[in-house]
Amino acid sequence: MTRRPTFPATLPTQGAAAGRTRPATPAATAVRASASVAAVRPQGLGLDSQAARERMVQKLAAQGLSHPDVLAAMGGVQRHLFVDSALANQAYEDTSLPIGLGQTISKPNVVARMIELVLAAPAFAQATSAAQRGRILEIGTGCGYQAAVLARVAREVYSIERLRGLHDKARDNLRPMRLPNVHLLFGDGMLGYARGAPYSAIIAAAGGEAVPDAWIEQLAIGGRIVAPVQSTAGRQSLVVIDKLTHGVQKAFLEAVQFVPLKSGIA
Ligand code: SAH
Repeated sequence: MTRRPTFPATLPTQGAAAGRTRPATPAATAVRASASVAAVRPQGLGLDSQAARERMVQKLAAQGLSHPDVLAAMGGVQRHLFVDSALANQAYEDTSLPIGLGQTISKPNVVARMIELVLAAPAFAQATSAAQRGRILEIGTGCGYQAAVLARVAREVYSIERLRGLHDKARDNLRPMRLPNVHLLFGDGMLGYARGAPYSAIIAAAGGEAVPDAWIEQLAIGGRIVAPVQSTAGRQSLVVIDKLTHGVQKAFLEAVQFVPLKSGIA
């Protein structure tokens, strides 16, 4: 089955196709072979993924996202490798995309916005590099895209997924990228992941009625939770919860649309 896009045609010359663990399809082999004969130029708009990412980052900046580490991380992760080949040409548009099992990968704008909020946490205030930032817990690994972005801004990323099919898909997607600081976990993220605690931040990609107590318990002092939660009339908003020495501080931000946070595994 051809799952990997031949998009972008420039990948082989960038060396990014090396290290893939999936068997090469005839089509992929053909692209690779022709790329080794001559430096293949992208055929038409949208085929050069680096350029497409740069355009995406420019749009993010125009939309008000400004943290240099976030913009660099968004520009560095090949989003098209996380979606089905039929959707690869939409990978750098500001749109959410299906990733299977009824789940979706968030819009780049929302991913960047949430990570920017995470990096503004008191615990990260003094940090100027990923290495200085602590451990982040992501609830809802999905296809693994956001985990790959987080891996570029934090020292350690723990990411938990309740659907076995997506946990396996994320593992397959991330394996060739060799990110030693990403730890994928299969389980119910509503319980957090106590063994990795305390976290400097917890970021959720699925929204429930409230933020589970376990997340607050597993957060370090000075740490921050960024999550979608149900607000009025079944609507969702982003909530930012800071854990301070004297309690928690909550702020509700803009409306968002995330898949539901569900308990248990499947
Ligand atoms: N960050 C993901 C987005 C995935 S969508 C990405 O970049 O692809 C949200 C994911 O949250 C779905 O895969 C869904 O199965 C998962 N999810 C929902 N409730 C969960 C829970 N309690 N624990 C772990 N994952 C959960």
